[in-house]
Amino acid sequence: MYLILFGAPGVGKGTQAKFLKEYYGIPHISTGEMLREAVKANTELGRRAGTLMSYGKLVPDMIILQLIRERISLPDCTHGFILDGFPRTLQQAKDLDLLMDTLKLPHFITIEIRVADRLIIERLLNRRICESCGTDFNLITNPPPEDMRCPNCNGQIGWRKDDNEMTIRHRLEVYNKETAPLREYYSSENGYFAVDGSKSISEVRSNIRQFLDDRPVA
Ligand code: AMP
Repeated sequence: MYLILFGAPGVGKGTQAKFLKEYYGIPHISTGEMLREAVKANTELGRRAGTLMSYGKLVPDMIILQLIRERISLPDCTHGFILDGFPRTLQQAKDLDLLMDTLKLPHFITIEIRVADRLIIERLLNRRICESCGTDFNLITNPPPEDMRCPNCNGQIGWRKDDNEMTIRHRLEVYNKETAPLREYYSSENGYFAVDGSKSISEVRSNIRQFLDDRPVA
């Protein structure tokens, strides 16, 4: 199963990817997460990407493609993977197609998660994340414990630097300009499904699962 989770920041791609990863036993590849790890480790890539990320700007296509090329060549990707946050530009989509052709891998199934911008802003402003294990919380719908210690791993719960209103608005602008046009690119393929991401996590999950389960085995 080769999946692309497509949608603006904050629509719940990461949340659904965690479930799909378990369900299908394939890795979840988030370019944002890979970049945040590079920032944390203070590698050269992290230093280059960190500033762009803190302003909500895209990291150059060449850098991202290199990351993806290396990641999907690892043995755990042999039977499929889930892409989250990639591709984000038309160039990235075209490069990905070339890469898949070169590796003789099949076409992707694309799941688009749609949520109105207003709700995205509210979600991202209230998002909290365990800095150690990445568990998500939301101050309104799924509040973290008062001591801000993660119930799973006892790590510190904090928030992403780019989850502030100014950067969120810029990320949405970038999404609408650079990434949303990819809908045309993928929606003409028969492996495309759009789901209403304003519903509960479990409803979105079961809608996605139903679509995938109903598909004939390739
Ligand atoms: P995300 O975790 O997907 O919201 O990504 C966080 C940030 O990482 C984005 O705002 C970009 O600065 C950068 N980023 C992640 N994926 C990509 C990508 N495919 N292309 C360019 N920049 C990316």
